Amino acid sequence: MQKQNQNKFEILRMPPENTNSVLVSHGGDCVVFDPWGRADDWNRVLDARNLRLCGIYATHGHPDHISAAPDLAAKYNVPFFISPLDNSLIGWGNELLDFFGIPHICPHCANPAPIAPGRHMLMDKIPMDVISVPGHTPGGLCFYFPDEKILLTGDTIFRDGFGRHDFPGGDQRALFESIKRLHDMNLSDDTYVVHGHGPDSTVEILKKENIYFK
Ligand SMILES: [Zn+2]
Repeated sequence: MQKQNQNKFEILRMPPENTNSVLVSHGGDCVVFDPWGRADDWNRVLDARNLRLCGIYATHGHPDHISAAPDLAAKYNVPFFISPLDNSLIGWGNELLDFFGIPHICPHCANPAPIAPGRHMLMDKIPMDVISVPGHTPGGLCFYFPDEKILLTGDTIFRDGFGRHDFPGGDQRALFESIKRLHDMNLSDDTYVVHGHGPDSTVEILKKENIYFK
């Protein structure tokens, strides 16, 4: 991805490969989005890069996007930001983690911190717009970085499809309204788009190849 103003965005496909996580660092500080995988593996990545974790952000509360979040938040004593509308999903669907051999999420061990839509300053330095995108889950969020022109969509939309709406709290109509909200942001064609699963894209690719991006 791009490197600008000392801000580094890295897509990490942590083992066992399934979900796209994003590590954003500035100097020795970093935050992580959708920390899939095992907390031990994340500790090794952060140690190897000599990074200090300052916070964790989740696009939504499904286990394949937050499996390492509670343990990392506790170990580094940092906030785990997620929409309060998805708090009740923390710990739901643990059987998916069995399939991957990953320890269950303990809903009582997680200490989620609320985050609201609007402009935030990541690590007090990086502008970040938080966009409400209900539909895949009630509290779905997308994250957009205007300086870097990077959009993290979670499971709302993929390069060639859209997220499921048949899980608890899912809502097809809301999902399509959320996709329209992303479309109507009129982000420039060269905006780099990281999806929750599968290959990355750009706004130009979505416009040309994803018939649901409208
Ligand atoms: Zn999901």
